[in-house]
Amino acid sequence: MSTLEIRDLHVSVETETESKPILRGVNLTVRAGETHALMGPNGSGKSTLAYAIAGHPKYQITSGTVLLDGEDLLEMTVDERARAGLFLAMQYPVEVPGVTVSNFLRSAVTAVRGEAPKLREFTKELSGAMKSLAIDPAFAQRGLNEGFSGGEKKRHEILQLELLKPKMAVLDETDSGLDVDALKVVSEGVNRFSASGEVGVLLITHYTRILRYVKPDFVHVFVEGAIVEEGGPELAERLEAEGYERFAKAGASK
Ligand code: ADP
Ligand code: MG
Ligand code: MG
Repeated sequence: MSTLEIRDLHVSVETETESKPILRGVNLTVRAGETHALMGPNGSGKSTLAYAIAGHPKYQITSGTVLLDGEDLLEMTVDERARAGLFLAMQYPVEVPGVTVSNFLRSAVTAVRGEAPKLREFTKELSGAMKSLAIDPAFAQRGLNEGFSGGEKKRHEILQLELLKPKMAVLDETDSGLDVDALKVVSEGVNRFSASGEVGVLLITHYTRILRYVKPDFVHVFVEGAIVEEGGPELAERLEAEGYERFAKAGASK
């Protein structure tokens, strides 16, 4: 059983001219079997948190730690993080012409398992996973992210979860531009993934609407680079009714 521990994390973003502090001491623990929603207004630093955990070079950890099962995640390479059982879905996956979904997923599986699966076996595994997620088999031969709709991007993300079987998933959901179809794909995928009760999910989101389909055990309100309030699912309902305004003020006065 896995635990992701974020302790007093401070992160700055490197721009051409400056190093701008964004995260101001984030504390968050996600245990296997738990689904957490991290919710905050635009620009509060949610994606910065996801990028920092992913090891994106533009995001400088100025202090604090991130541990996965007691191991220092921040000392690991990106591949090592994946091998340790961490899954990170980024907001804007890049388009790679000439690389198919199937090629990409085989490389990802290779990185996580430490050896390349035999092509025949992988093809079988992939088609099984796609079938169980009701994804059209033709999707495997599409160019990676080429002309993907919001729904297709989400299907691809969920397909990765299914194949890579991580212990801990950090999902940064813009949900802006996601239609109801895409929202359902990702929700069903997350619910399917968390159903085992043996994995942890950190779902990062701006809108409360995804939480109509995914029921978090814990909700964290994130404002100006720090968590300002925590609670259960009822907190998401309050956010839906009241917005972030009140929390923004509370955060600013701290
Ligand atoms: P959120 O995901 O909550 O909308 P972000 O983490 O994307 O917030 O952004 C938080 C702040 O950090 C914003 O002020 C944003 O402009 C800044 N920021 C994030 N990434 C970069 C970047 N790569 N370059 C410059 N500024 C950035
Ligand atoms: Mg944003
Ligand atoms: Mg974001």
